[in-house]
Amino acid sequence: MACLLLHYKSMKMQQTLRNVIEFSGIGLHTGCAVNMRILPSAEDTGIAFIRKDIPGSPAIKAESSNVVATSYATSLGAKGVTVSTVEHILSAFYGLGVDNAVVELDGPEVPIMDGSASHFIDMIESAGLTWLSAPRKYIVITRPIKVADRDKYVLLLPAEEAEFSIDYSIDFSHPFLTKQSFSKLFSREVFRQEVGSARTFGFLKDLEMLRANGLAKGASLNNAVAIGDTSIINEDGLRYPDEFVRHKVLDMMGDISLLGAPVIGHLIAHRAGHGLNHRLVNEILKRPGRWHMTDTLVKESSVEPRHLHIEKMATV
Ligand SMILES: [Zn+2]
Repeated sequence: MACLLLHYKSMKMQQTLRNVIEFSGIGLHTGCAVNMRILPSAEDTGIAFIRKDIPGSPAIKAESSNVVATSYATSLGAKGVTVSTVEHILSAFYGLGVDNAVVELDGPEVPIMDGSASHFIDMIESAGLTWLSAPRKYIVITRPIKVADRDKYVLLLPAEEAEFSIDYSIDFSHPFLTKQSFSKLFSREVFRQEVGSARTFGFLKDLEMLRANGLAKGASLNNAVAIGDTSIINEDGLRYPDEFVRHKVLDMMGDISLLGAPVIGHLIAHRAGHGLNHRLVNEILKRPGRWHMTDTLVKESSVEPRHLHIEKMATV
């Protein structure tokens, strides 16, 4: 018997925080102590960082045109003022559906906390979210978009359903960390439970080089997984056996949020990083014929006719 295809249309309103969040921490790369506040903001304002320690409190919008560096972290800047390591808090906003917020900080780098988005997620959830009066707009991918650098690539395909899904794989040439992969259809719950608490990681052999270049000054076993020659150094072990690839997914979601709207599509990434993620976002913006924006998502569900008791339907 032929199935009937039902089309459900859904529209979601934009969200912001219900209450203000305040906390402190140190920057992973600068080692600077930073106080931060996250405040609610109006519809269609997006995410903005405000440097309270600089006269005039300049604002830097979280958008791809403001990306100024992608080495070991994503940094934003405008008019000579920067804020670095923005990817984990942006990932928490993206994963939890926070469309608009103002992030005030009194230093140059977002605190690393425990190296994951876990603290940000807990604080956002305890502050609560509230609906705003404008609908959320989505970027719906309609034709493939790809960026590559030798064997590294990110490919974004149209989604079969009105969803966002990720297939991510990593492949390091290290005795302890080689191949890992992670595939998920995303939801707020999947982000919170399976991605949000995966920590940043680094190889001990690289630490000296990073520090010589003025990076990783705040790095410790409290905010990163350190990989030695044959094992990890952290005594408490890993949060997931595949924590490394999950953290790469966390980073990817923060970087892709710089598009300014959630993506409906199927993302396939292999050995990507902040630089390639940023190139993907720019490629999407350069190719408006390969996607469209909408505030109404259409989902399909197939049902056998004898189970139907409603009037409007499309048949296939
Ligand atoms: Zn990260």
